[in-house]
Amino acid sequence: MTTYNKFKYKYVDGSTVSSNVVDTIIAGGTLVHPDRTVRSSIAIDDGTIVSIGNEGSLPDTERRIDATDKLVMPGMVDPHVHAHDETRALDSYETATKAAALGGITTFINFAWEGWEGEDSPYDPDTTILTGIERQRTAGEEEAVIDFGVHAVLVNETQSNLDHIEDAVHTGVSSFKVFTAYEIGLSNGFIDQVLGRIGELGAVGVFHTEDQSVCDQLTEKLRRENRGAPEDYPDSRPDYTEAMAADDIARMAQEAGAQYYGVHTTSRMAADVLERYQEDGSEIRAETCTHYTVHDDSIYGSLGNLPLMAPPIRSPDDVEAMFEHLRGGALSVVSTDHSSYKKESKQVDNWWDCDTFGVNSLQRSLPVFHDEAVVERGFSYPDLVRVMSTNPARTFGLSNKGSLDPGTDADIIVFDPSRTHTISAADNAAVSDFSIYEGADVTGWVEKTFVRGRLVADDGEIVADPGHGEFIERELPEWENSQQPLRG
Ligand SMILES: [Zn+2]
Repeated sequence: MTTYNKFKYKYVDGSTVSSNVVDTIIAGGTLVHPDRTVRSSIAIDDGTIVSIGNEGSLPDTERRIDATDKLVMPGMVDPHVHAHDETRALDSYETATKAAALGGITTFINFAWEGWEGEDSPYDPDTTILTGIERQRTAGEEEAVIDFGVHAVLVNETQSNLDHIEDAVHTGVSSFKVFTAYEIGLSNGFIDQVLGRIGELGAVGVFHTEDQSVCDQLTEKLRRENRGAPEDYPDSRPDYTEAMAADDIARMAQEAGAQYYGVHTTSRMAADVLERYQEDGSEIRAETCTHYTVHDDSIYGSLGNLPLMAPPIRSPDDVEAMFEHLRGGALSVVSTDHSSYKKESKQVDNWWDCDTFGVNSLQRSLPVFHDEAVVERGFSYPDLVRVMSTNPARTFGLSNKGSLDPGTDADIIVFDPSRTHTISAADNAAVSDFSIYEGADVTGWVEKTFVRGRLVADDGEIVADPGHGEFIERELPEWENSQQPLRG
């Protein structure tokens, strides 16, 4: 039995507490750690995991949860979510975190935007990332049912922005998102300065990499050729544009000694580029998203404009490459890039008229990835926990998350690995009225979700009130010293 000090102090050594009773014991399940599975029971008290061991060795409990034949895993950590984003994604913290809880996700990282001069800006151009952080924190603390943090999004090439990076770190925001594409894309020159600053501070750069000028000219060409069908869309943002931009930014990150995290890697070409820079496995990391591991570009023929997103869903060989690189470690995280939109906004004649790129998947990501990676492709449960929980937690300075170790937050899910269900958007807790997994029969069901010891989702129902979720002030992560093995 392993026991956390606080527990000893409170119940064993301490004389202030008379009864040896904890809030909850989850008994008889198989615990999944990032490096092993073990049949054991787990005791929770006051929001924290206090001990693990045979049930007979644990204290008495007020609530016993029987997890026989179930897996007990740390709650999933999703580092890439869009919510409370005004003109963009439609979810509030309430709807997004409810979808997350039903999907076994107990912490996500959203985005805090500054305003900019431009027609797409939802915010006053004078507002800074610090305003954005405060806005997200306030809304989330009122509405969320799971814990959350934010990445700050830099969209202006200003000195004050560079100065605000350190201020943001002091508010518990240790990662900074930059785009190389769209109206909000930044130049390599400015990104080089951002990397210098975050390298000095030990923060993390989070990069959306596509070469905008190449994507622009290809888009123009497709428009001239009147190729507006959804099947034509991937040709406007091919794999090499993703690889080119990743190559540029990773190279600058290496020069700056800055921690680089690539979001939504989709292609063999881009993942190969990142692998080349990962000489010591420490400074260059990247994710892919659930949909890039289960769908290929034939989806544009079957679902039309619904799966419009950037970068696009790619070839069957690229799907294979996602798994090769997850196994090899060049990709170490699977995220959702969750963005809720209504079907109606995707009903356009030509794909270039669509301004709601992205799909919702907080509620589906874990069962869908479980079905594909574990059931179909032989990933182990520790592999699953590493890429969806432990690695994102350690990558982004969430030291109390992503683990079942005594002393950490009791963010725990009870997962039935053999129960199947059929995905239907009618069950969406998110605002979006469609799913790119509609009708799929998947194996794996999130039976219970606990956030800091509190039961939040129970067999498909939300049982906690908005406001249980807390803003997590994230530390500066030290990737080089991370004990977490990245490779499976
Ligand atoms: Zn995104």
